[in-house]
Amino acid sequence: PAICWQFDFQATFLQCLAKHVPNIYSAEMDPLLEKQEEMVQAAIFYPLECYLFGEDPDTFLEKLQQSGISQLCGKVFKGGETTYSCRDCAVDPTCVLCMDCFQNSIHRNHRYKMHSSTGGGFCDCGDTEAWKAGPVCTKHEPGASGSPKENSECQLNEEVMEHSRRVFPSVVKYIVDMLIWEEEKELPPELTTREKVDSYYCVLFNDEHHSYDHVIYSLQRALGCELGEAQLHTTAIDKEGRRAVKAGHYASCQEAKEEIKRHSENVSQRPLHVEVLHADVMAHQKFALRLGSWLNKLMSYSSDFRKIFCQICLKEDTGSEKPCFISQLMLWDAKLHKGARKVLHELIFSSFFMEMDYKKHFAVEFVKYYKTLQKEYISDDHERVLSVTALSVQIFTVPTLARHLIEEQNVITTITETLLEVLPEYLDKNDKFNFQGYSQDKLSRVYAVIYDLRYVLISKPTVWTNRLRERFLEGFVSFLRILTCMQGMEEIKRQIGQHIEVDPDWDAAIAIQMQLKNILSMFQEWCACDEELLLRAYKECHKAVMRCSTNSRSREKTVFHLCGHTLESRPYRVSSDPVSIHLPLSRTLAGLHVQLSKTGTISRLHEFVSPEEFQVELLVEYPLRCLVLVAQVAAEMWRRNGLSLISQVFYYQDVKCREEMYDKDIIMLQIGASLMDPNQFLLLLLQRYELADAFKKIKLTKDQDLIKQCNVLIEEMLQIIIYVVGERYVPGVSNVTKEDVIMREIIHLLCIEPMAHSAITKSLPENENNETGLENVIDKVATFKKPGVSGHGVYELKDECLKEFNMFFYHYTKTQHSKAEHTQKKRRKQENRDEALPPPPPPDFCPAFSNVVRILNCDVMMHILRTILQRAVELETHLWTEAMIQMVLHLLSLGLLEEKQQLQKSPEEEVTFDFYHKATRMGSSALNAVNVLMLLEKLKRVPQLEAQKDTVIWILQMFDTVKRMREKSSLTAVVAPSGSETAKGDENTQDKEKAERKRKAEAARLHRQKIMAQMSALQRNFIETHKLLYENTLEAQGKEDAIMEEESMSSGIDYSRIALGPKRGPSIAEKEVLTCILCQEEQEVKLESAAMVLSACVQKSTALTQNRSRILDLSGDTVDPLFMHPDLPCGTHTGSCGHVMHAACWQKYFEAMQLNFRQRLHVEQIFDLENGEYLCPLCKSLCNTVIPIVPLQAQKINSEDAEAVAQILSLARWLETIIVRISGYSVKNAKGDQQNAPAFVSKGLGNSALEFHSILSFGIQSSAKYSSSIKEMLILFATTIYRVGLKVAPNEADYRIPMMTWSTCAFTIQCIENLLETEGKPLFGSLQNRQHSGLKALVQFAAAQRTTSPQVLIQKHLVRLLGVLLPNFKTEDTPSLLEVDMFHVLVGVVLSFPSLYWEDAVDLQPSSISSAYNHLYLFHLTTLAHMTQIVISSATESPTARSYDNSEEACSAQAFCREVCQYTSGCFSQDIPGWLVWDCVKRGIMPYLRCAALFFHYLLGVSPPEELLQVSEEGQFKALCSYLSLPTNLFLLFQEYWDTVNPLLQRWCTDPVVLSCLKGKSTAVRYPRKRNSLIELPEDYSCLLNQASQFRCPRSSDDEQKHPVLCLFCGAMLCSQNTCCQELVNGEELGACTSHALQCGAGVCMFLKIRECKVVLIEGKTRGCLYPAPYLDEYGETDPGLKRGNPLHLCRERYRKLHLLWQQHCIIEEIARSQETNQIFFGFNWQLL
Ligand SMILES: [Zn+2]
Ligand SMILES: [Zn+2]
Ligand SMILES: [Zn+2]
Ligand SMILES: [Zn+2]
Ligand SMILES: [Zn+2]
Ligand SMILES: [Zn+2]
Ligand SMILES: [Zn+2]
Repeated sequence: PAICWQFDFQATFLQCLAKHVPNIYSAEMDPLLEKQEEMVQAAIFYPLECYLFGEDPDTFLEKLQQSGISQLCGKVFKGGETTYSCRDCAVDPTCVLCMDCFQNSIHRNHRYKMHSSTGGGFCDCGDTEAWKAGPVCTKHEPGASGSPKENSECQLNEEVMEHSRRVFPSVVKYIVDMLIWEEEKELPPELTTREKVDSYYCVLFNDEHHSYDHVIYSLQRALGCELGEAQLHTTAIDKEGRRAVKAGHYASCQEAKEEIKRHSENVSQRPLHVEVLHADVMAHQKFALRLGSWLNKLMSYSSDFRKIFCQICLKEDTGSEKPCFISQLMLWDAKLHKGARKVLHELIFSSFFMEMDYKKHFAVEFVKYYKTLQKEYISDDHERVLSVTALSVQIFTVPTLARHLIEEQNVITTITETLLEVLPEYLDKNDKFNFQGYSQDKLSRVYAVIYDLRYVLISKPTVWTNRLRERFLEGFVSFLRILTCMQGMEEIKRQIGQHIEVDPDWDAAIAIQMQLKNILSMFQEWCACDEELLLRAYKECHKAVMRCSTNSRSREKTVFHLCGHTLESRPYRVSSDPVSIHLPLSRTLAGLHVQLSKTGTISRLHEFVSPEEFQVELLVEYPLRCLVLVAQVAAEMWRRNGLSLISQVFYYQDVKCREEMYDKDIIMLQIGASLMDPNQFLLLLLQRYELADAFKKIKLTKDQDLIKQCNVLIEEMLQIIIYVVGERYVPGVSNVTKEDVIMREIIHLLCIEPMAHSAITKSLPENENNETGLENVIDKVATFKKPGVSGHGVYELKDECLKEFNMFFYHYTKTQHSKAEHTQKKRRKQENRDEALPPPPPPDFCPAFSNVVRILNCDVMMHILRTILQRAVELETHLWTEAMIQMVLHLLSLGLLEEKQQLQKSPEEEVTFDFYHKATRMGSSALNAVNVLMLLEKLKRVPQLEAQKDTVIWILQMFDTVKRMREKSSLTAVVAPSGSETAKGDENTQDKEKAERKRKAEAARLHRQKIMAQMSALQRNFIETHKLLYENTLEAQGKEDAIMEEESMSSGIDYSRIALGPKRGPSIAEKEVLTCILCQEEQEVKLESAAMVLSACVQKSTALTQNRSRILDLSGDTVDPLFMHPDLPCGTHTGSCGHVMHAACWQKYFEAMQLNFRQRLHVEQIFDLENGEYLCPLCKSLCNTVIPIVPLQAQKINSEDAEAVAQILSLARWLETIIVRISGYSVKNAKGDQQNAPAFVSKGLGNSALEFHSILSFGIQSSAKYSSSIKEMLILFATTIYRVGLKVAPNEADYRIPMMTWSTCAFTIQCIENLLETEGKPLFGSLQNRQHSGLKALVQFAAAQRTTSPQVLIQKHLVRLLGVLLPNFKTEDTPSLLEVDMFHVLVGVVLSFPSLYWEDAVDLQPSSISSAYNHLYLFHLTTLAHMTQIVISSATESPTARSYDNSEEACSAQAFCREVCQYTSGCFSQDIPGWLVWDCVKRGIMPYLRCAALFFHYLLGVSPPEELLQVSEEGQFKALCSYLSLPTNLFLLFQEYWDTVNPLLQRWCTDPVVLSCLKGKSTAVRYPRKRNSLIELPEDYSCLLNQASQFRCPRSSDDEQKHPVLCLFCGAMLCSQNTCCQELVNGEELGACTSHALQCGAGVCMFLKIRECKVVLIEGKTRGCLYPAPYLDEYGETDPGLKRGNPLHLCRERYRKLHLLWQQHCIIEEIARSQETNQIFFGFNWQLL
C-alpha cells in the first residue's frame, strides 16, 4: 500500500514513523537485527525513496551511481587503517591519502610516509589546497572512471530536487529533535499515537573512567546477572556507547538504575551514567540514527543531495533563537553517546566536507561556537576522536579557509581566548601559570586547543590585506597575554641546607613549552612577512616584556669596578633569589629581533621603540639569569632541589625545546653584546655568574668545594662568551641559510661518530611540518654506508667537512663535547697531524650584530684571559682547569681569526678591531708583568698542558700571521726582510717539529704492530684451547675438519667407502679426548668410564610438516609414537650447543642453578625449572637435558668371513631366519605372559632346517658393557625425550621410551638433511660443529638406549615395525604403506634389530658381519617399500613435454608399474611412461637416501665417498647408491629379489588405504616432500599494511581497532591481544597467537605484528620475545612501531636469517637469550598474545 506523501509531507512522514518505529524497535534487549532492518526497509525507507526519486529506488540509484563520483575521495579512515603522506607535495603532514588513492597517485614514487590512522580523518585526494602537486589520483581525476564530471552536476532532475527540498527538512528535523530529546518518558506530541504503555529500559552509558572489569562487576552486583551476560552488555556499551541492560516497568528500571549507580561508585569514581528511558523514546532515537546513516549513504550519490542537505542544515529559523540544525547538533555533541556521534560525524564528512562552499559555511559555524565546543570537550569523558572538535584539523589546515576564518571570524583570537579561558584554574596570585598538582588527562585536552592554533598558522599567507594584518595582530597580542602568564612562571629558589621534600611537577610546564615551540616560530615567521607588521608586533612584544620586568626595580643599584670600568646594577643573585626557566616573552622578542635584522627593518626600530624605552640591560637580564641557573646546576649548587630541576635544565637545552628556549637566550645575550658597552656587558656577566671576586687578585678561600664550584662557573661563563661571539649560524644573526644551519648541525653530530639516519633525525629540531630538512643536505656532507645482515646503515662525514668542526659547538652536551674532541684528536693522530683543533672561521655577523665581536678585545676580556693564563703558568693548580685553558685558547683563536678576516677584507688603517695589540700589551705596570703572547710561550712548557701544546703553537703562528698582515700593509718594504726572516726561522722550527712528530708516529706504529702480533698469537692459542667456543664460525672450518679427517684416513690403505653389506668399510673411530667445560679436565670417552655428556635441548617441532591444518594431539597420554605419519606433522627435535661436561659436574651445576633460580623472582618465565631447563654454562643457550656421549664401537669386517657368509645368507634365507627367531620367542613367551607376546602369523616357513638359534650362527659377540654412570645418563636422556616429546609426566618404565628415542633420532636427521639441502650445502663436511657433535652423540645414544630397556619390549616394537614391511607380521594396528614415514621405520628397525639376539642368560649382539647383513637387508626392504610409496603416491603427474627416453631405468620402471597395476586391479594407471616413473622415483627418494647415509655414517663411522663432500646433483645420487650398497638403477632391487619381494609387493598394494588413494578418494603425501619455508612476504611493506587494513576479526563484527598478526609459518592472519579471539585450552584462556602456536608450531611460532612491524617469537604459554622485522627503509634501518613511517622494503637476507632460526630450531634459544638480556618483558603476559 503506497503511502500518499504528497500533500503534507511533514505530517505524513511523522505519522508513518509514529506508527511503525515503536513496533519495529520494540525488542531492545534482544533484537533480531536482520528482521528489524527488513521491516524498516519495507515500512519506511522503500516508500520514502519511491517518493523521493519518483521511481524504483534501486533503478534510480544505479543510474545515479555511475555519475555521482565526486572529485574528492573523502574516504573516512577507521582506526588502524594506513594513511600516506607525501613529504614532497603535501602542504602539511595532516594531508593524507588512503591506500587506494596513494597507489594511483604520483606520490607513490616520491618521498612518502605511512602511518596508522587513529581514526576519524579522511582522504584528501582531490583537495587542490592540500597538495602542491598531484592533488588527484588517477581514479578521482575528472573524466577518469567513465563519465565526465560536468554531467554529475546537473544529474538530478527538477522533480527529484523538489522532492528533496521537501523531504530533507523533515528528516533532518526529526533526527535533530530525537537526538537532542531530553524527556525520558514522553515523546513529542506529533509522534505520540498509541496508548502509552508502562514499558521502560534502564540504559547504561559508556565513559572513559570506569574500567571494563568495573562495569562488569557493577552489572553483576546490581542486576544479579551472569558473568557472560554482564560481559555482553559491557562490550556493547563500549562499542555503541549505550545499551539497555534491563527492561520493565518504570519503577523496576528506576530501581536498577540506583543499584548500578550505587555499585559503580567509589571514593575515587563517580557513578556510571544510567538513564531510564521509555521504550518509545528509545525506539525513535534508534531510528533517528538509522535515518542518519540512510542520509549518509544518499549523500554519496549526488552533489545536489549534498548541497540541499547542507542548505537545510545551515538554515536559521528566523522565528526562534535556536541556531541552525548543524550547530544544534554540534553543541549537543558532547552529550550524545558514542554511536550517535559516529553517525553524526560521518554525515558531516559525507556532506559538508565534500562540498568546498559548504565546508566554509560549516567552518564559520564551527568557529562561532568554538569556545563552547572546546570547553565541552575538555569536560567530556570521551576520547578526542569522538568529539566534534576533532574536525578542527579538517578545517584549519585548509589555507584559504584558515585565511577566511582569520579575516572574518578572528579565529586566532578566538583560539587564544579559549585557551585563556580554560587555563585560569592554573593561575597563581601573580597571574602566572602554576601547574602543581595538575590533571594529566585534563591538561592533555587543553593541548587540543594549542594544536588548533598550530593548524591555523601552518601555511603562511602570501598576500596581506589590511584586514588580515589587523586580525593577525589582534590575535598575536592576545597570544602575548598567554605568554605573559608563562613569563617567569613556576619560579624556583635554591634550596640550602635541607633537600626539598617533594619534587615539584615540572613536566606540564615543559610539555606546554614543547607544544608551543613551533607555534612561537610560526608567529615570528608570520610577523616577518610584512615590515609594518613586524615592527608593530615587536613593539607589542617589547611592551609585554617590559611589563613583566618591573619587579626587580625596587632594589637600590650597586656599583661594581674592574679594570677601570664600572657597572651600576640592581643586586640580584641567582643562588638566593627566585628564578624561572620559562621566559617565552623574552625569547619571542629575541626571535623578532633576529627577523628585524634579517629583513633590514631594524633601521626603523627607533620609530616604534624609542632608545630610552628600549633598556637593553633589562632585556638581557632574565635570559642571563636562566643561563646562570644552568651553570650553577652544573656546578652542583642546586643539588638539594632534586631531580625536577635537572630534568628542566635538560629539556631547556634538548632538541625538543631548545630553539625557543636556550637558543633564543643566547641570541638575547648577543643582542645585549651588540648594543651594550662590551666592558659593561662582561661586567654584568661576571656579576650574574657571581664571579666578580674570582678575577680580582684576592685569595678567596681554601674550601676545596667552593674552589671547585667557582672553577665550574668560570668554565660555564667562558663557554657562554664563546657562544655569544662564535655562534652565528642563525639566519639574521649572520647571512646563513636554513640549509647551512642544518648542515652544520649534521656535521657536528657526525664528528662524534657515524650515525644512523634515524639517530640524526632525532637529534635535529623538527619544524611545524615535522621535517628536519635532513634529506636536502645530508648528501653534501656525508656518505651512506649500507648495513650487513644485522645492525643498520650509517652516515659517515665527508673528509672535506672535518674542517668545519667546532669543539665548542653550542648544541653539544658535555658528553658529546668530549666524545667529539676525542674522536677528532684520534683521527688527526692517525693521520700523523698535529692535534690542534682551532675554531673554523665563523661567518660574518649581520650589521645589527656586528658589535658583538668587540667583547673579544675589550679590557675586561683581556683581563679575564690573562688572569687565567697567568694562573696556569704560575701553576696555581687549584685555580684553573685544563678545560678553562682550552676555552681561553679558543677565545684567543676567535679574536685572531676575526682580526685576520677583517684585515683581509679592508685596508689595515680601517680595521679598528685590534686584538693583536691588546693581547700583546702588558696587563699592568708591575715589574713582573707579562702579556698574553709571553704567557702562551710559557704555557707550551707546562707539563699538565701537553695535550694543548699543538693548539698553543697554532695560536702563536696566528699571532705571527696577524702581525705580519698588520706590518705588511702599514710599513712597507723596509720591514719586509726581517718579517720573512722570522718567517723562515719559524718554518725551520716548524719543519723540525714535523720531523720529530713523524719519528714519534713511526715509533708508535712499530710498537703497535708488535703488540698486535703478540695479541694474535695469543688469540690463536685461545682458539686452539677453546675450540668449542668457536663452533659457530664458518663452514670453512667444517670443511677443514673434513679434510683433516680424510687425510688421517688415507693413511690406512685398505678401506672402502661403503656403509652396508659385506663390502662394508672400516669404522673410523678416533680416540676421543674431551674437555669438561666446567672443571676443565680432559677425559677420554670410554664405555667403562664415568659418563661425559653434551648439553642439549629437546623440543617438539613442526618444521617439516606437510600439512599445517592437521590437528595435533596436545597431550601425549594416549599417543602411540611408533609410526611417524608421512606428513611429518610433529616430531621431536634434539639439538645441542656442542658443549661437553662430566655428567657429575653437570649434575652439580644443574642443582646449584636450580637452587639459585628458585630464589629469584620471575624466573619461572625464563626457565621452566620443573622441566629441567638450564642455561649452558658456556654459551648460555637454553637446554633442558644432556646427551650421554657413547663411544663408537669400532668394527671391521674380515673380508674372507664376509665372503663365506655371502654364499648362504640370501635375503630369503635371512628373512626366514628372523621369522623363525621371532616365532620362537613368541612360542616361548606365550607360555608365560600371553599379552606381551608379539602377535604375528607364522605361516610360509619353508625351510625346516632353520630353527630358533639359527640367527646366531652368522656371528655374534657379547654386548657392550656400559658403566653405570653412562647407563644412568642413557635413562635420563631417554626419559626427557619421552617427557618433552609427548608432553607427559616422566616415567622411566614407559614402553614408549624406546620409540621416542628412535623417533627423535630419525626426525633430527631429517631436519638436518632438510637444512643442508635448503642451504645448498654438501651432505657431509659442512655441518656446524655443534650439529655434528650433537648428531653423533644422538645416534650413538639411540643405538645404546636399547640396552636399558627390557629386550622383550624392544622385540615387540620391532615386530610391529616389521609388520609394515613383512606381511607375515601384520597385526590389526599396522598402518598401511601410505601411512608411515619409511625413514622412521628404517631407524626403528635398525636400532631395535639387535634385540633378536637376546638370550636368557647371555647378553649377545650380532657380530660385525651379521650386523652388516642385517643393516643391508633391512635397508633394502625399507627402500623397496619407499619406492613403492613413491610410485603409488607421486608418479601420477601428467607427462610434460620431454623427449622419449628408453633407458634401462625407464624399462625397469615400466615393468614394475605393470606389476603394481596388476596387484591394484588396474587402479594404478599403466599409462605413465617409464621414464617419468623413474624420474619421480629418483627425485622422490633423494631425501630418504641422504637421511639414510647420514644415519649409517653416524651409526657406523664409515667414511662417505668424496662426492658427498661436494654439492653435485648427479654425482650425489651415484655416491649415495654406492655408499648404501644400492644399484643405481633402483628398480633392479625388485628384479633381483623378485621371488621374495613379490608377495610383499602384493600385500602392500592391496591394502585398502592404498587402493582408496589410487582411486583418488584420499590423498597421500607426494615425494619429494616440499621443503618448508617461511611464507612469501611482499617486497613493499605497505602491501602488508593493506592486507591488515582489510583484516576483520573472525569472531566479532565491530570496526574496533584490532591487532592483526601474521603467522610466518602458515600465513594465517590472527586477531591478537583481544578478548574476542581468546581460546580456552586445558582450562586456560590463551590469546589467538598462543593458541595458534600450539597447533601451528607445536608451541613454538613466529609472528609478524603488522601494525607494529615487529616479529614476535613465542614458545609455550609463558615465553616470547620481540625480534626486528625483516623490513628496512632506504637508510638500512628497521622501524619498530612504524614511528618514522619511511617506506619499508623486504630485506631477503634478514628474512632468510629468520627462516634459518626456525629450521635450525633456534627460536627457543633466541627467546631465552633475549629474555636474559631484556628484563623488560617480564611484565608481559605472553599467554594472551
Ligand atoms: Zn582516497
Ligand atoms: Zn583518489
Ligand atoms: Zn608527492
Ligand atoms: Zn668436569
Ligand atoms: Zn653451550
Ligand atoms: Zn601458523
Ligand atoms: Zn578477534
